[in-house]
Amino acid sequence: MGGRGRTAVFMDRDGVINRLLPGDYVKRWDEFEFLPEVAAAIRLIRESGFLAVVITNQQGVGKGLMGMDDLDAIHRRMVGELRRHGADLDGIYACPHLAAEECDCRKPKDGLIRRAVAELGIDAGASYMVGDSSSDLEAGRRAGCRPVLIGSVSTDGCGLGTFLDLMAFARFLAGRAEGR
Ligand SMILES: [Mg+2]
Ligand SMILES: [Zn+2]
Repeated sequence: MGGRGRTAVFMDRDGVINRLLPGDYVKRWDEFEFLPEVAAAIRLIRESGFLAVVITNQQGVGKGLMGMDDLDAIHRRMVGELRRHGADLDGIYACPHLAAEECDCRKPKDGLIRRAVAELGIDAGASYMVGDSSSDLEAGRRAGCRPVLIGSVSTDGCGLGTFLDLMAFARFLAGRAEGR
């Protein structure tokens, strides 16, 4: 590893990797639906020299709607499906706590990102946090990463603008990586 550390694309899960269940949590694998081109996007992100690390709030655990074992099972299936399509994840960090617990890891706090940065030797300032909500962007900012909003075609003035989906951002990133 170089002195500056590695670069990463931190990404939210629900609404970025898999379809959001409005008003509900993904509690079982049959509720998990990949969004289009996610595996190809993660492949492109990694080919562009970035680690791919998932940063996700899973309050459904804290609410008792599922257990950590259910969450782990979903993530094992997710990792397996992605790998089958040539896309490896470099880490999955989940906050299982209730908002009311005021832990330091639930987004918009940056505890999960900071943990990943320390454990994986990442240069936060050269990394991105991609999400579909303002709490993702806020967590990214607090950790010193560049925040990227996806899931909308409007711009929000967050600097990098807004991308339609993970693939749109991955293509942008690949274009940048080529030019450096
Ligand atoms: Mg989300
Ligand atoms: Zn937490």
